[in-house]
Amino acid sequence: MADTADVVVVGGGVIGTSIAFALVSAGVARVTLLEKGALASGASGRSSALIRMHYVNEEDARLAWASFPVFRDWCERMGGPPVFTPTGFVAVVGPADAAALRANVEMLRKIGVDTTAMSPAELKMLQPHVNVDDVGAAAYEPASGATAPWSVSRRRPAASTAAPSWWRRARGRRGSAASSGSSWPRAPRRWTRCW
Ligand SMILES: Cc1cc2nc3c(=O)[nH]c(=O)nc-3n(C[C@H](O)[C@H](O)[C@H](O)COP(=O)(O)OP(=O)(O)OC[C@H]3O[C@@H](n4cnc5c(N)ncnc54)[C@H](O)[C@@H]3O)c2cc1C
Repeated sequence: MADTADVVVVGGGVIGTSIAFALVSAGVARVTLLEKGALASGASGRSSALIRMHYVNEEDARLAWASFPVFRDWCERMGGPPVFTPTGFVAVVGPADAAALRANVEMLRKIGVDTTAMSPAELKMLQPHVNVDDVGAAAYEPASGATAPWSVSRRRPAASTAAPSWWRRARGRRGSAASSGSSWPRAPRRWTRCW
């Protein structure tokens, strides 16, 4: 493996692997991803991994909405088995926060998100088993769901054919990202079918 790179990305969580994958996809020839432990050994491997757009500030919501097709269309974009389970997503609030939730849903709808504000009675129709006694309003995103964060972080390197061995385990002293180690995968596997 070469000892130099055009870009070094530190951290093999969902953010680092995404950045490295985007760089390789954009044509950067020599990208090295350094990870001191294992891929997705940080927050990414512990995440509940809900894929939803219901954020209260517009910037987060726009980011989530722009990222959504990556999870939804994983097979076509990345290859391999899907990593996204579309379950639908519901956020509920008490009566005191009902107006704020409805305003939030309006903001989301303006940027294109498929979401609807619901009354407690409408939520009960959607999910009959839910006790809505203390619910003031709900936001429903039919297309949202959850992903498998470990798979997402591991399979981004595997989906890259442009830079065959760009994942490197950063070994050595704690906190050192520069020392060399093993690379994975040497010959990335390109999945050819979706399950
Ligand atoms: C319990 C929980 C639930 C969550 N639920 C959700 C959710 O439902 N939806 C959602 O979108 N988000 C959720 N999150 C947040 C989400 O998981 C994080 O925002 C995301 O994983 C952060 O990714 P990251 O790549 O920035 O960090 P990390 O996944 O922490 O990756 C950082 C990596 O850098 C490595 N590293 C650190 N220092 C060095 C160094 N010096 N050299 C080499 N490597 C180094 C670490 O080992 C680690 O692997 C949740 C998080 C937790 C903990």
